[in-house]
Amino acid sequence: MTLLELDSVTASYGPVQVLDGVSLTVPEGGSVGILGANGAGKTTTLRAISGTVRTGGRIRFAGRDIRGRRPDQVAALGIAHVPEGRGTLAQLSVRENLLVGAYMRKDRKKISADIEYCLDLFPQLRERIGSRAAALSGGEQQMLAVGRAFMAKPKLLLLDEASLGLAPGTARSVYEAIRRLRVESGIAMLVVEQNANLAFTLVDTATVLETGRSVLTGTSAELKGMDEIRRAYLGG
Ligand code: ATP
Repeated sequence: MTLLELDSVTASYGPVQVLDGVSLTVPEGGSVGILGANGAGKTTTLRAISGTVRTGGRIRFAGRDIRGRRPDQVAALGIAHVPEGRGTLAQLSVRENLLVGAYMRKDRKKISADIEYCLDLFPQLRERIGSRAAALSGGEQQMLAVGRAFMAKPKLLLLDEASLGLAPGTARSVYEAIRRLRVESGIAMLVVEQNANLAFTLVDTATVLETGRSVLTGTSAELKGMDEIRRAYLGG
């Protein structure tokens, strides 16, 4: 069943229109990538969903029209956004950041077990549990940002450039953990990632954006087999 559907979505920053017809769907429990050059509108597509940019068109989530809702309302419906640049709370500890992620939950009793799960998924965070987020490495901050989003127990995770600024080995281990999270939790994911090789380890299908429009959608295998996709996003 479809969890998220964008149909002809437009978005603008003030007078500047940057999305001009983005359509894509994420099935329940599915994982979908957004590919595209710098400035194609990938980040803005995630912002359109989470309600931080003015949008037109249609955005449906779990059977509801969510276009135009405030970010806190979108989050309450079960969408967690891990923004580019991570967005952890620098002065709070790892444990406090994870607890902040859970603040809207009603099932308070399960929170400790979910923190344990995060620390099992990202063992480096266990060692840094009392450290302020500001003192973590880039990779650890990314892990914390994903862990914090998981703590909200969302139905859908929006993940923006989780590999940005990380050493290749660190980026791979972050993606491996996210993949495990996906398999074990069934949380659906919409993934923006410059590094298409990494994206394809996590997503089943992807949509290619060009100047604010979706121009192509295919399975990971189909897209990897296309010359122009290989040239543009896979390094040859
Ligand atoms: P990147 O990988 O470089 O982040 P992207 O595909 O995610 O690219 P967006 O960040 O969505 O692209 O940006 C799409 C367009 O909107 C770009 O031309 C960008 O310059 C412009 N833009 C982004 N944020 C703003 C803003 N706050 N105000 C005005 N224009 C913006």
